[in-house]
Amino acid sequence: METAALSVRRLTKSFGRKQALHHVSFDCQPGHIVGLIGANGAGKTTIMKAILSLIKAKGDITINGQVSTFRHHAALADVGALIEYPGIYPYLSGRNQMKLFATPTADKNQRIQTIIQELHMAPYIDRRVKGYSLGMRQKMGIALALVNNPSLVILDEPMNGLDPQATKELRELIQKKQASGTTFLISSHILSELQKLAEDLIVIDHGRVVQQTTMRELLARNQHFLSLTTDQ
Ligand code: ATP
Repeated sequence: METAALSVRRLTKSFGRKQALHHVSFDCQPGHIVGLIGANGAGKTTIMKAILSLIKAKGDITINGQVSTFRHHAALADVGALIEYPGIYPYLSGRNQMKLFATPTADKNQRIQTIIQELHMAPYIDRRVKGYSLGMRQKMGIALALVNNPSLVILDEPMNGLDPQATKELRELIQKKQASGTTFLISSHILSELQKLAEDLIVIDHGRVVQQTTMRELLARNQHFLSLTTDQ
């Protein structure tokens, strides 16, 4: 079997007396778009932060076959992420922020230009981030997650603040990246946001994985349920 792009085993996290995660385990297969779905407070952000070593949690995390721990996280070099409110320098322009973040390879400026075009950020990219709307900031965070072409991308509620057109454009961009082999783990509390995107689904409830399924299976099951209820 192919090595998983991301493997999470028995992830457990408590905040004081509150246990936020209970032995969470799942895999993301290479080149798949995996949806992490659950209500507000279910534990999605905590899972993502633990994978990214932003918080310390118990359990085992492997990225592209390489063990990643709170102290040894070299594997994260090939991971791009958008977590909660994107940490951005308000007095830099979007472009300069990207220059700061992009790895200094020969194609750095080309990569930046490409992501600006792909996310349609040209009209405001040379303005200070301070004046950006929520949607613009969200795109900025997504651009930072993608600019280095990582093999694994973790996006926490990426559609937050995006209008329907920007949501559609982001979906198409994610699909384009997937077609070239990128793996995505994307959280949302709204199933319809992931419906046209994720093929695999991990359902989180009160810090536990309660279901691991495919979008196709989930929709087929709901279809069956809907047809039963409308027939009566
Ligand atoms: P949301 O979409 O609202 O962020 P979520 O599924 O991402 O929801 P988490 O943010 O991971 O949920 O939170 C899971 C649980 O852990 C919640 O009960 C939350 O209150 C708690 N929690 C998260 N971070 C902390 C923290 N730093 N201190 C205390 N409790 C926390």
